[in-house]
Amino acid sequence: MARIVMKFGGTSVADLDRIYNVARHVKREVDAGHQVAVVVSAMSGKTNELVAWVQNMPKVTGAKSPFYDAREYDAVVASGEQVTAGLLAIALQSMDIDARSWQGWQIPIKTDNAHGAARIQDIDGEELIKRFEMGQVAVVAGFQGIGPDNRIATLGRGGSDTSAVAIAAAVKADRCDIYTDVDGVYTTDPRIEPKARRMKKIAFEEMLEMASLGAKVLQVRSVELAMVHKVRTFVRSSFVDPDAPGMGDLLNPPGTLICDEDEIVEQEVVTGIAYAKDEAQISLRRLSDRPGVSAAIFGPLAESHINVDMIVQNISEDGTRTDMTFTVPSGDAEKALSVLAQNKDKIGFDVIQSETGLVKVSVIGIGMRSHAGVAATAFRALADKGINIKAITTSEIKISILIDGPYAELAVRTLHSCYGLDKN
Ligand code: ADP
Ligand code: ASP
Ligand code: MG
Repeated sequence: MARIVMKFGGTSVADLDRIYNVARHVKREVDAGHQVAVVVSAMSGKTNELVAWVQNMPKVTGAKSPFYDAREYDAVVASGEQVTAGLLAIALQSMDIDARSWQGWQIPIKTDNAHGAARIQDIDGEELIKRFEMGQVAVVAGFQGIGPDNRIATLGRGGSDTSAVAIAAAVKADRCDIYTDVDGVYTTDPRIEPKARRMKKIAFEEMLEMASLGAKVLQVRSVELAMVHKVRTFVRSSFVDPDAPGMGDLLNPPGTLICDEDEIVEQEVVTGIAYAKDEAQISLRRLSDRPGVSAAIFGPLAESHINVDMIVQNISEDGTRTDMTFTVPSGDAEKALSVLAQNKDKIGFDVIQSETGLVKVSVIGIGMRSHAGVAATAFRALADKGINIKAITTSEIKISILIDGPYAELAVRTLHSCYGLDKN
């Protein structure tokens, strides 16, 4: 007997037939004698619809307001998961499985106060363990918890992955299965590059980079938690016959295992390519070049919860003036510009320039630590396709390159093939 947490994403629960199919996956594990808890997302498209409702609420002035109350945003957008949790519990009950749905606050899944992007702080596993012992299947609404203000808090987009891994850690599950619409983690997004290959295993650090650099197959925080708590996490498909051979394999289920580096025998130099669309670039021209300027720029942006990514500062020509360029998600560009304008006197710059609709493509691989020339290969390959590079950042195990939006897919495919990732 094992203890398994099974998470099903939006496309896996997109309609009643798919929810029924999910129930069959759960039944397979229950029939095998395992203790099972399930985490569900909202039906696909539902969260987007709820977010749009919140964002499009007209104000008295008639303007749309992106500056809504985040606590009410959470109250609205958390509702999608409540529906699927209840529906799946009903489907399971129809199969004579003792199942009960749970919302985040009922467990409780305690979070911090950052409404809209809250972090899980504590999960009381006792209630769930009690249910396991009664032979009951708990169906938990993903993406949500309860904040210190006693209000529903959501975990940021894609947050059900994090709910699942956090619950698996809290109940010391033997495995956490993330079921989605692809059968594992690929060398790049298989929707962009059909020649992408599925990996049998990927190291935590690489998955962390892939996820933070745009591969939305797992939420970044879920990978962090899996790494810290050593949760055995598999990414696998719900779109297969639940009773196909091998589906119930306890140690080697079909899919991709996220694991420690040492578990991977043959480590490639480059493991994968990720991309993030909708980046915006902001440049502050002719800044005064003095101590405290960066703090004056990025302090107020951080206070406004704007996530700044690539930062490039020019070397000053004459020691008095310089330029600073950085990227933010396109959705935050307007807010960032207004924060900077409000702080213009404190920062001291001449003009602001901005551009939206850019894309960041990234090359990831632990093997880069010990191999030279990986970046040069990327630059040459992009140049050969006439793709202009706007900014570059690197770390030990990744290279990120900012380019114009329309070149996104070409750049991903070019980088994927220049490292031979499309070959076996
Ligand atoms: P869910 O609704 O199940 O949470 P998501 O849409 O959040 O599913 O994540 C699955 C999607 O992630 C896939 O359909 C795929 O297009 C995308 N994806 C991006 N990069 C990768 C990758 N490297 N491997 C697998 N899938 C990827
Ligand atoms: N439903 C939420 C979203 O679409 C959470 C999730 O699916 O993981 O972001
Ligand atoms: Mg997801």
